[in-house]
Amino acid sequence: MKLYNSATRKKEEFVPIDPQLVKMYTCGPTVYHFAHIGNLRSYIMEDILEKYLRYIGYNVKRVMNITDVGHLTSDADEGEDKMLKGAKRENKSVMDIAKFYTDAFFADCAKLNIKTPDVVEPATNCIDEYIKIISTLIDKGYAYLAGGNVYFDTSKLERYYIFNDFNAEDLDVGVREGVEEDTNKRNKNDFVLWFTKSKFEDQALKWDSPWGVGYPGWHIECSGISIKHLGENLDIHCGGIDNAFPHHTNEIAQSESYLGHKWCNYWMHVLHLNTTSGKMSKSKGEFLTVSLLEEKGYDPLAYRLFCLQSHYRKSLVFSWENLDNAQGTYNKLIGKIAALKPGTAPVDEEAYNALRSKFTAALDNDLNTSLAVTAIYDVLKYQTNDETKLYAIADFDKVLSLDLIAKSEAKREELKRHAVSGGEFTVIAEDGTHDPEIESLLKARAEAKKAKNFPEADRIRDELKASGIEVTDIPGGAKWKRI
Ligand code: AMP
Ligand code: ZN
Repeated sequence: MKLYNSATRKKEEFVPIDPQLVKMYTCGPTVYHFAHIGNLRSYIMEDILEKYLRYIGYNVKRVMNITDVGHLTSDADEGEDKMLKGAKRENKSVMDIAKFYTDAFFADCAKLNIKTPDVVEPATNCIDEYIKIISTLIDKGYAYLAGGNVYFDTSKLERYYIFNDFNAEDLDVGVREGVEEDTNKRNKNDFVLWFTKSKFEDQALKWDSPWGVGYPGWHIECSGISIKHLGENLDIHCGGIDNAFPHHTNEIAQSESYLGHKWCNYWMHVLHLNTTSGKMSKSKGEFLTVSLLEEKGYDPLAYRLFCLQSHYRKSLVFSWENLDNAQGTYNKLIGKIAALKPGTAPVDEEAYNALRSKFTAALDNDLNTSLAVTAIYDVLKYQTNDETKLYAIADFDKVLSLDLIAKSEAKREELKRHAVSGGEFTVIAEDGTHDPEIESLLKARAEAKKAKNFPEADRIRDELKASGIEVTDIPGGAKWKRI
């Protein structure tokens, strides 16, 4: 497959270091608040990448951190610790906040069918790893002590600004209110590896270290956790575009200086979900969550479909109208799949292979998810039996994860429950909706036909036609659509 690599700014053929196992790392959430649906856009698209790699036959080991310490209100190491801010806001301990929002994050992921990575590691679990890396960086001359903190010296690198050609808004490094310049830094872009002194004396979590009691910087945690679980080489590193700089740039700087060689081959960055008034951000306070979508009656999977309908390298604008459209499309799609009538015919391998190659061609091309969704419509239109169609849809949904089979089976059952006559007459609306009036007219027509009262049956058909309803007879029932 071809994947766009932000590090080289090119679409490249994806070749893992070990053909048996893809090593993938994902920046996890900072658990001081609920995830907003923008954060979840990034995790949905990363989930597609992981599942697609598995679909085309790779084994994948995916690791994700949970940021429960060290992420300050500005990504440039300044401001207050986000976790502490969350704890103060809710009058709880930092650990309670971390547990509550970690659980909430995975509950949201489950609703969106985002698979939990193989390894999920809270940053506070790996202090020894960070200390080991920082000690080596000091020994090698890449880090220095100043004012009680340990800093990475960016002037020691030949190349630092790896991802720096993104536009300024995408790279906006977070809120800067109350941020003062750190005069300990030798160079503007130097960053903290270990804090012992910060303006915030009430920092809740602290550990002993060779440089005094303190806590790690945010960037070092991803290098430490990745190296701990995936070793010295990484195939793919993912994150939202705001992580590209400074977070990922700093991860590369410290990991490669520590290891003495190239660390990660492919970088995948998901562009932001924006609202019509700008970027969605947790620190702005008001934001959209999965629970809010549910409260308003949306299926979280309609949001997943909404995300899949656009490419991950384009920013996406959220509006309720857009979500309404996605929900409508989702309902119709489920309705269409529910209208399939599987019997016992074998799967037509040739047809399945032709359909599958359209699906893989879409995703092989830098994860073109919107075309991959279109491949489901191609299945529905294809000249083949319904068994093959359902087989192909179930197969593609291993990646898309829209619950297409389970939801359409439930819909089929629901339609049966609404069967019109003698429990055997089924009415199916092509758009998956229910209309009791149309259903009872169709029932009356079926009964007229049964009684051989054909003029009455034709009259009902004409009446429906006059109101824009086209009826098709199917075995054991009728199908209708608006024309
Ligand atoms: P955080 O919890 O702030 O550490 O962010 C978790 C993930 O969400 C990171 O990969 C971010 O880059 C990503 N992210 C943050 N804001 C957005 C957004 N508006 N749209 C898409 N992804 C985002
Ligand atoms: Zn990270």
